[in-house]
Amino acid sequence: MKDEFEWIKTITPKKHHQPTLIEGIGDDAALVRPEAGYDDILCVDTMVESVHFSRKTMSPYHIGHKALAVNVSDIAAMGGAPKFYLVSIAIPKGWTEEELRDIYQGMADLAEDFQIDLIGGDTVSTEGPLVVSVTVHGRVQQDRKLLRKNARSGDVVFLTGPVGLSAAGLHLLLKEEVSIKRLIEAHQLPQPQVNAGLLLAGSGYRIALNDISDGLASEANEIAEASNVQLILDEECLPFIEEFASFQKEQVLEWMLYGGEDFQLVGTVSEADWHSLRKRFGEHNQPLYKIGTVNEGPARVMLKKGEELLPIGKKGYNHFR
Ligand code: ADP
Ligand code: MG
Repeated sequence: MKDEFEWIKTITPKKHHQPTLIEGIGDDAALVRPEAGYDDILCVDTMVESVHFSRKTMSPYHIGHKALAVNVSDIAAMGGAPKFYLVSIAIPKGWTEEELRDIYQGMADLAEDFQIDLIGGDTVSTEGPLVVSVTVHGRVQQDRKLLRKNARSGDVVFLTGPVGLSAAGLHLLLKEEVSIKRLIEAHQLPQPQVNAGLLLAGSGYRIALNDISDGLASEANEIAEASNVQLILDEECLPFIEEFASFQKEQVLEWMLYGGEDFQLVGTVSEADWHSLRKRFGEHNQPLYKIGTVNEGPARVMLKKGEELLPIGKKGYNHFR
């Protein structure tokens, strides 16, 4: 890159969506106005080349999309609407300006879908791999806390959409077998479930919620631990899409439980509120699947497989193992 300041100009948005933005890119820091009746949500996630993605399976555009999507998904999991984002990028030699612009375009297109404004960031060079760290700010109606610790015995476990698609897509990309569009897209352009999160928060019900970044097994275990309850997932209720039909059933189950990066939401709600919640989703053409039930502790997750009940641990990807 020839000139950092010229480059920042090229990625500075020409318009913004959020009326609460006072100053975006260009000053020492961004300035935003709080909104009455809302709580602020803040989160950050970092993607490192070779750890979180490979250029073999992800284009610069996909990398940008995913770096923002993982954060928007965390906002969705709190029942909030994303509003602003900041990007810190460490650029190795060898990345062209065009490729960097593609990373920002991947973020900008997703941001446009949800009317999120880019309001700042930081740019450094590095001898190491490409690192993209995105910070997202969002807002949720005051006191709507969709926390992992909210699950109670007797609740229904729900899922906002099918899982395992991203892992199946990665498998296809690595094996360079047939290309199944829906699976490949699920891996390269995952869609955070903001609308589902807003419906859940809007219901006003007591809801435990988590987004699925590390796999259904891992995220369900986090709810079980935080709430000290037992989640029983029913294998037969896990949504099976037609794109899975050409794979072995056990392979698909592995992807569903441990694949991750689908960014669907998993949660629990009382049996009494389940039916009206599902109706609400139906009215908004938004799927909602019942995949299990909540029992008294010990804190763990079990899979009902035919007549058997099998414990399912966190497994999934853990950076310190
Ligand atoms: P400062 O020295 O005040 O940190 P910078 O030169 O780092 O200023 O940044 C100038 C402006 O450009 C700031 O508003 C900053 O938020 C924004 N900015 C810098 N790098 C990026 C980036 N990679 N993406 C988005 N905005 C950026
Ligand atoms: Mg700076």
